Formats: sequence, C-alpha cells, structure tokens
Amino acid sequence: MLKDFTLVEKKKLTYDLFEMIFETEDSFSFIHGQFITFVLPWIWWRAYSILETNWKYIKLIIKRLENGRWWSKFICDCNLWCILKWVWPAWHFTLKETPKNKLFIWTGTWFVPLFNQINWSLELWLKANLKLLFGLRNELDLFYEKELRDLKSNNSNFDYDYYISREKVWNYIHWRVTEFITKENISIYEEFYLCWIPSMIDNCIELLLALWIKKDQIFTEKY
Ligand SMILES: Cc1cc2nc3c(=O)[nH]c(=O)nc-3n(C[C@H](O)[C@H](O)[C@H](O)COP(=O)(O)OP(=O)(O)OC[C@H]3O[C@@H](n4cnc5c(N)ncnc54)[C@H](O)[C@@H]3O)c2cc1C
Repeated sequence: MLKDFTLVEKKKLTYDLFEMIFETEDSFSFIHGQFITFVLPWIWWRAYSILETNWKYIKLIIKRLENGRWWSKFICDCNLWCILKWVWPAWHFTLKETPKNKLFIWTGTWFVPLFNQINWSLELWLKANLKLLFGLRNELDLFYEKELRDLKSNNSNFDYDYYISREKVWNYIHWRVTEFITKENISIYEEFYLCWIPSMIDNCIELLLALWIKKDQIFTEKY
C-alpha cells in the first residue's frame, strides 16, 4: 500500500550526497539491510536503502547523479515538507545475527545498508569483530568520518579503513578496497557483506572464492 513520506530534514554531506530525513505516516519495522521504494510521478520507482529509523522517522543517504535518469536529482532537489509516496521495506540483503566475525565492503552510497547492519550488530552486542572497508574515489567524496570515528571509539570490536582510489591523501589508504582481500587479512572473518556495482561484486566474490571462502559466507547487494 502506498504511504506518504514528508521530508523534514536535509543535509548536504558532499557536493553530490544528501542525508535526508523523512517522516512517515505510521511507525514501521524492517529487517536491517532492507530498502524502501519511492513511487515517483508517472509511476517511476526508485529504491533506497535504509540508513536509520527512529519511530516515525527514516534517514536515507542519496547521491544526486548528474548523468542518471533524473529521479535522484528530483528527490535530492525536493524542498522541506515536500511529500513523496513510498512502499514498505523489502529485500533479502539482511544481517545474519550470528556471533561470527564480519567484514563489510562498499564504495560510495553502497555504504547505507552496511552502516545500518553494523550499527545493528553493535546494538545486539553480537560477540563478533566487525570491520568495514570504505572505498571512495577522491578526497571530495569523503563523508561520515565523525560518525565512524565515534562508532570505533565506543566499540572495541569495530574497526574501519577508508580507501581513496584516485588520489593520494595523507592518512588514507591510496588504493581500491579489494587490495585488502588477501589470505592473511581476511583470515579472522567468517561472513562477508558486499554492496557495490555488479562487476565489482563479481570481482570481490572471485577473490574470496580463490581464498577458500565458501559461497554461503558471502552476502551481496548489487545496484
Ligand atoms: C536495492 C537498492 C538500494 C539502493 N539504495 C540507494 C541508496 O541508499 N542511495 C542512493 O543514492 N541510491 C540507491 N539506489 C539507487 C537508486 O535506486 C537510483 O538508481 C539512483 O538514485 C539513481 O536514480 P536516477 O533516476 O537518477 O538514475 P538511474 O538511471 O536509475 O541510474 C543511472 C546509473 O547510475 C548508477 N547508480 C545508481 N545509483 C547510484 C549511486 N548511488 N552511486 C553511483 N551510481 C549509481 C546505476 O547503476 C545506473 O547505471 C539503490 C538501488 C537499489 C536497487
């Protein structure tokens, strides 16, 4: 059933990334890692992963794609109090609530469902080490540094690394996140969560399988 979403807060995180908080008509529940779908004018649909929820409020991070088919621009350019239609959360890319060590790999806005899953793992006090590899192209793309620093200082079982692929920036690793995938680095991890474009996910899966990780240890979301 279609419901109304009212935009109540909008913050620019980078030159093309927006954190947006919408108020829903009713409180709702979802499984960590799922997405909601906006039903836009002329019955276009666009999916967005859930970053956080709090009673009737839902937080999303949306990239304003200059060369997309327009709908990310339409949403990012909405003014406060604009109302959009949406449908309930869906999808199977959900956190396994196990005490197994987990490695999360993403780039750009593919961050959103994984950040949600990491926060939920920490809230559940899962007895697991959690590490995330955050890949970006340039320094200008950096976001959520304070949030990740705070998460790490409050949770001894959580760690993260930023990778910047297209320029050298002091204090950040200069390369692609896939460089981390070596036998030695991944030896303590038992579950792998990947969210990325299809070709990079396939590339990561190949690297993991070559290191004797089993398919049922790898969970993916492609878009
Ligand atoms: C399950 C799911 C969850 C998603 N969650 C998010 C989210 O949390 N935040 C978000 O910004 N988008 C998310 N998207 C993408 C979103 O649905 C739209 O595709 C995106 O906003 C672009 O819409 P558009 O009409 O402007 O361009 P489109 O014509 O839909 O896309 C143009 C091209 O850009 C690529 N693309 C789409 N999204 C991104 C992105 N974020 N970064 C880089 N390239 C991209 C697509 O692969 C496509 O080739 C998600 C998609 C899916 C399927």
